[in-house]
Amino acid sequence: MFGRSRRPTAGTRAHDCEESTPAVRLEGVGHEYGAGGDRSVTALRDVSLSVRTGEVVGLKGPSGSGKSTILHAVAGLLVPTEGTVALLGTDLTDRSDRTRTRLRRHHVGIVFQRFHLLPSLSARANVALPLVQTGVGRSNRRDRAEKLLEEVGLADRTTHLPGELSGGERQRVALARALAADPDVIVADEPTGELDTATGSDVLELLTDVGRDGGRAVLVASHDEATLSVADRVVPLRDGRVVTDGG
Ligand code: ADP
Ligand code: MG
Repeated sequence: MFGRSRRPTAGTRAHDCEESTPAVRLEGVGHEYGAGGDRSVTALRDVSLSVRTGEVVGLKGPSGSGKSTILHAVAGLLVPTEGTVALLGTDLTDRSDRTRTRLRRHHVGIVFQRFHLLPSLSARANVALPLVQTGVGRSNRRDRAEKLLEEVGLADRTTHLPGELSGGERQRVALARALAADPDVIVADEPTGELDTATGSDVLELLTDVGRDGGRAVLVASHDEATLSVADRVVPLRDGRVVTDGG
């Protein structure tokens, strides 16, 4: 159901990747918030990991272990103070803010714990919003948003406001929005954190379908084992480091 519709807007992909290039690759990533200041916090230390297209990778760890920092680095929302972060073979860490923003808009879909929907916009308008930034015309935006809402099971909720939807429905709208620009990579930060168990597992099933059937790479962070049971592989973190066997 989530097969890729290769967009006609060619020239926006970072690279025509070789099969061997992972969609996401972090190498030796360290991050210090407020670097150098007296309130600096070391959030990541020497983190290396990669996610291939069609793979769902979990990031596990207690609160404060660095999960969100990794996702922000992958989305190009933050430049780590050490190491490299490559998206489809392109290193984000030596690009301008403008280029990082463009790469994010075209290649990364983000799902947050608290949905982050605009309350005054309909479900359809929320889903269509990222397409305004990528220059898609109004009627195409609307068609695409409706199709995506149908795919996440919300065909009959397109004109509802977020406040008129349940938590699970809101997260499905957020997932549809994350898919709007047909991204290569989805990052999901505690996507079930606000949902009950049954609703959370529905959302996770959708998320993994989106990755495996849609030919995308998915990186999902959670402190909850059950959430990560859908992952092909789980990377455990503690104090900003990847925990290796015996560590
Ligand atoms: P997680 O998502 O696993 O809970 P985070 O990546 O949010 O972990 O945080 C890792 C560490 O970085 C924590 O010690 C946190 O307090 C710190 N941190 C996160 N964001 C900031 C920030 N904007 N400024 C300073 N420290 C931060
Ligand atoms: Mg977090």
